[in-house]
Amino acid sequence: MFKPTEDFAKQLDQNDELSRYKDEFYLNEGQIYMDGNSLGLLSKRAEKSLLDVLDAWKIHGIDGWTKGEHPWFYLSEHLGERVAQLVGAKAKEVVVTGSTTTNLHQLVSTFYQPEGNRTKILADELNFPSDIYALKSQLKLHGLDPNEHLIRVKSRDGRTLNEEDLIEAMTDEVALVILPTVLYRSGQLLNIERITNAAHERGIKIGWDACHSIGAIPHDFHDLGVDFAYWCHYKYVNSGPGGVAGLFVHEKHFGTEPGLAGWFGSDKTKQFDMEHDFTPSESAGAFQIGTPHLLSVAPLIGSLELFEEAGINAIRQKSLRATEYLMYLVNEFLSDFNFTVGNPTDDARRGGHVCLEHAEAASICKALKANGVVPDFRAPNVIRLAPVAFYVSYQDVYKTVKIIKDIMENEIYKQYKNERDVIA
Ligand SMILES: *Cc1c(COP(=O)(O)O)cnc(C)c1O
Repeated sequence: MFKPTEDFAKQLDQNDELSRYKDEFYLNEGQIYMDGNSLGLLSKRAEKSLLDVLDAWKIHGIDGWTKGEHPWFYLSEHLGERVAQLVGAKAKEVVVTGSTTTNLHQLVSTFYQPEGNRTKILADELNFPSDIYALKSQLKLHGLDPNEHLIRVKSRDGRTLNEEDLIEAMTDEVALVILPTVLYRSGQLLNIERITNAAHERGIKIGWDACHSIGAIPHDFHDLGVDFAYWCHYKYVNSGPGGVAGLFVHEKHFGTEPGLAGWFGSDKTKQFDMEHDFTPSESAGAFQIGTPHLLSVAPLIGSLELFEEAGINAIRQKSLRATEYLMYLVNEFLSDFNFTVGNPTDDARRGGHVCLEHAEAASICKALKANGVVPDFRAPNVIRLAPVAFYVSYQDVYKTVKIIKDIMENEIYKQYKNERDVIA
């Protein structure tokens, strides 16, 4: 179906309806950006909405809370309504707030209610460290020893999780399950429906970390009855460094008192009554804490327009095709150089990036950067390459693999130390 030629890549680009979005983004001349799964690029629309919010401050001062194009007082909820479409939620089930890690703290402090024998939190040994730190500290706040009460399901191959193993670990001692939708290293997409159902059949609540799927993969959190979810917007949603995150709470849990209360979680009509008794909002908005970080929210206003225009299903289709093409080219051009594709190759189980493993991964990544490709390195041996649908063309994918081939053939990577930098 694919051909290993640059002409063929160009042909794929000509037939790609999303190719026109590349001009919407700031890309450096001659550079291929394959790191949108760590920090998405700035779009012109996100830049404009950030400037709009600055203007509102300039023009309206304090009245910006209720005046201007994007009144600040309602912005977190309004954006939540829009983000809801990316995760398959009802408008009131999503709010834009906090960071991934603080949202996880909020949601665990709300929905983790150890009782009798049910005291354990079930996670996995491959999740992002911050999630694990948060879970351990939440257990300690309950006076429980994380060594005993945090179960981390083991991976059989060091890359992926086996769904049977996850389900088998859901014993009657488990109170809460926290899992990533897509694993940040291997890019494995878990079967969210199957695992959510399995948890619920056993009377266990489940929350999903959607950092590596939001903006790349459509979800249906409401229909699946997922209890809660949380994610950042600065990866595939391109909302900028430190961009404010999001959370989903299923409407069946509206009215549950937030574990960490704050006045921005109030019913909006009551917030300025200044009462010392908290009246939480009847929505996911209840799980906000303090004043929203508006300047870090603002780029999302513009960025979401692109998702609304292109549609998350079209984005997923292109991403699947581009990662498939990337894997095909790796097989065509790099088979002599000891690379392993560490992600699941099946469409239904693959996230938005390709995980290339190599013993010299760190030095290969440095050589890639020096040669016009921005990859992402995860110690000790993973090169993550994300052909983001909006701004990576098939021709970029082709060139990337050819550049890797050149780096290997001519041993260019040997000019660099095989060690990670401070940020990797
Ligand atoms: C990116 C990422 C985070 C980052 O958390 P922040 O609070 O935004 O720093 C956490 N967990 C996962 C799984 C991630 O991919």
